[in-house]
Amino acid sequence: MPDNISVEERGQLYAKELGKLIERPTISADLPKLLNLPVDAGPEYFARFRETLEEVFPLVHSNLEIVRVKDDALLFRWKGKSADKPIVLLAHQDVVPAEEGAWKYPPFSGTVADGKIWGRGAMDCKNVIYSSLRAIEELLAEGFIPEYDVYFASSDSEEIAGGGAPAIRDYLKERGVNPFIVLDEGGIIIDKLFAPVKKPFAVIGIVEKGFGVIKFSAKSRGGHTTAPPKNTPFERLARFIVDVHSHSYFKPYFSPELVKTVKALADGVSPPLKFVFKHIRLFAPLVSRMLPKLHPFGGGLLCTNITFTMSGGAIVPNMIPPEAYVVANLRYSAYQTVADCNKLFERLIKKYDLEMEVIAAQDATSTVDTDSDGYRYLTDCIRETFPDIGIAPYIVLGGTDGRHFSEISPCSLRFSPVRLSSEQLATMHGLDENLDISALVESVVFLKRFIQNHK
Ligand SMILES: [Zn+2]
Repeated sequence: MPDNISVEERGQLYAKELGKLIERPTISADLPKLLNLPVDAGPEYFARFRETLEEVFPLVHSNLEIVRVKDDALLFRWKGKSADKPIVLLAHQDVVPAEEGAWKYPPFSGTVADGKIWGRGAMDCKNVIYSSLRAIEELLAEGFIPEYDVYFASSDSEEIAGGGAPAIRDYLKERGVNPFIVLDEGGIIIDKLFAPVKKPFAVIGIVEKGFGVIKFSAKSRGGHTTAPPKNTPFERLARFIVDVHSHSYFKPYFSPELVKTVKALADGVSPPLKFVFKHIRLFAPLVSRMLPKLHPFGGGLLCTNITFTMSGGAIVPNMIPPEAYVVANLRYSAYQTVADCNKLFERLIKKYDLEMEVIAAQDATSTVDTDSDGYRYLTDCIRETFPDIGIAPYIVLGGTDGRHFSEISPCSLRFSPVRLSSEQLATMHGLDENLDISALVESVVFLKRFIQNHK
């Protein structure tokens, strides 16, 4: 990149190149099948996506080791002077489907307009693929040699919690790679976190909640609905659901992680709230009661939560189902684990004569120490590039690829150096996903520094 190019020209170039990545509808082949969607997806789009990467990043492709670890999951290695303390940057290639007709600009056109790049993946998260590889491409052009190895890893199946990221993790583990720091999506720079917070904040995910799927079923001898017995399968399931929702089995806990979040946010609020945030431990019992009422996220931050999401029963309406079931999705906090919850459910299913099958279960990740060198390194780099913002560690409620990397690194963090407005954030997985061109330029600047400063 020549030095005499203006920021505007740079932004236009980056935006157009990111648009090319968006043009490839890299929807994981399993997703349309899972959701029953008439979407044309599959490996050919990932192959074309790789060709586009080669076109846009020629130096990356001639200088880095690139491995297809499993299916379309990619790992790039930029050898540094030492293999110790490597940096690992993550960003998944797959995107969720998009309804063609409903968007302002077609979702797979990568249109650049109104100072923004539009399309599926514009912020989740082809922008991060773009800015990571663009940073490396420019550093290569400048003749920079990193002190330590730099890896860029890109799974093909994050949106379906697929095997791409675990395969990359295993590949690194087998080779004894212990990253100094891993950065994945899951944290951003948000303009308005919630009403009283007056300035933009970088939120850095330091722990990720667990994920579970449990099927609860009730059996019966079947029969005709003209002569219904007592305690039909749905009756038992319904009483079970009401029981789960009317008791506080999932205890709210104002965790040390949440204390850290609120204390950090004190920097962005005015008195008297500033005092409350700074001394949040004193107010924790009161705030714990208020938080779930203020926002549904509030409950998620405090405790394990459960949502019943699917059900099934007889195949015709006039039959008592020989078996009926409901499926629950759980999000485990670090303080009420899979084992704790299973113990609770084992007791409850006896009460209602149910059976349970744990379909998926993963505990919350370990928590990254905010006093660690890795965490401090990240916050120093953020302050250098974004001097106007606050920084807060936080609990990630959803699932990311990054969770698999806690096993090989004590510092697997969720943060993308991307400024988003709350309106833009709401378009994630929805209509009109978009990113400001200026945010893309800042991301590249940040990632160059992030690689360069690691000495
Ligand atoms: Zn994502």
